Amino acid sequence: MTLDVLVVGGGPIGLAAAIEARLAGLSVTVVEPRATPVDKACGEGLMPGAVAALARLGVDPAGHRLAGIRYLSGTRVADHLFATSQGRGVRRTTLQAALARRADELGAQIVTGRAGAVEQDADAVTCAGIRARWLLACDGLHSPVRRGLGLEVAPRGSHPGRRYGIRRHFRVAAWTDLVEVHWGRDVEAYVTPVDDDVVGVALLGPPHRDYDDSLDAFPGLRRHLAGAPTIGPVRGAGPLRQRTSARTAGRVRLVGDASGYVDALTGEGVRVGLAQAHAAIASLGPDVAAANAQYERAWSRATRSYRVLTSGLLAAAGSPLRAGIVPLAAATPRLYGTIVERLAR
Ligand SMILES: Cc1cc2nc3c(=O)[nH]c(=O)nc-3n(C[C@H](O)[C@H](O)[C@H](O)COP(=O)(O)OP(=O)(O)OC[C@H]3O[C@@H](n4cnc5c(N)ncnc54)[C@H](O)[C@@H]3O)c2cc1C
Repeated sequence: MTLDVLVVGGGPIGLAAAIEARLAGLSVTVVEPRATPVDKACGEGLMPGAVAALARLGVDPAGHRLAGIRYLSGTRVADHLFATSQGRGVRRTTLQAALARRADELGAQIVTGRAGAVEQDADAVTCAGIRARWLLACDGLHSPVRRGLGLEVAPRGSHPGRRYGIRRHFRVAAWTDLVEVHWGRDVEAYVTPVDDDVVGVALLGPPHRDYDDSLDAFPGLRRHLAGAPTIGPVRGAGPLRQRTSARTAGRVRLVGDASGYVDALTGEGVRVGLAQAHAAIASLGPDVAAANAQYERAWSRATRSYRVLTSGLLAAAGSPLRAGIVPLAAATPRLYGTIVERLAR
């Protein structure tokens, strides 16, 4: 029997794609090597648009409300409260488990396995011993499927500006219901309350940093965390920037981080990935070339604000303008608010 959709990767976006497939009446199997709940280095801030997209899928994970975004640098502070709805800080394991439950409830099959080579003919694609009409590669930042199909664009030169993320949780009363982005000299600390007494801190910046040493660059944050027990290990991910030459190859589509990634600085990965998962299923059709062109257009629309605004902010963050980012945001609240709303919706 040929399945309708094979999803490689059971992270949040693979599971969302499986739910989308079932809601569209398609048969679907997800192949994921790790046991649920899968953890990963992530800032764990779901923007209002992500919370709404999850609700549409019937997924409502527990977490801590997020009312907006705060930028801090020294004594300068810029706040923006979301205009219409709230975001949510959600432990990564909670999010993945809630999505897996919903996918299972709708009849998606989730199997343990690691996808390897992909073979295609005119009618179907075969991978991990499973034959399907379509394969959605949701296998993350370093997507083996993307590499196998030659869809990744190699980084140029030595890339001294490559950025990584490392994250840890602390048992401490949440002191804020805003995502706080503390701007240091070359590292940002991204703080998300995920429960009343659990706060995640992701550090974004150059490689080879010790977590505690990097945190010392943020004395205000250190005071909040003083004496707080840590929960679980430090987890890391990177390099964050991943480019792709195309999002489709025959009956294979790249979705989520596998389709390309700019940076975690604006906390957009899940929201953008959910939009891609929706588009990847909505654009399936009998004419492969036409369906792929439709997905490429939808992917481009769904990721445009994220690509443009996050790349712009990163460019400023890596330039002498860096020290002026928070003062500018504080001095121009309407501009700052417009950008945050654009990214969060
Ligand atoms: C430090 C950091 C902070 C972030 N902060 C935020 C934030 O605050 N808000 C936000 O929205 N986003 C944030 N992001 C981005 C977000 O984490 C990602 O966009 C999101 O995880 C993408 O989900 P995904 O399902 O595409 O990939 P992943 O979550 O990476 O899942 C990929 C899955 O594929 C599986 N896989 C890999 N290889 C294979 C294989 N060969 N066969 C089968 N399965 C395979 C993996 O086991 C994994 O489960 C952050 C990212 C980082 C690194």
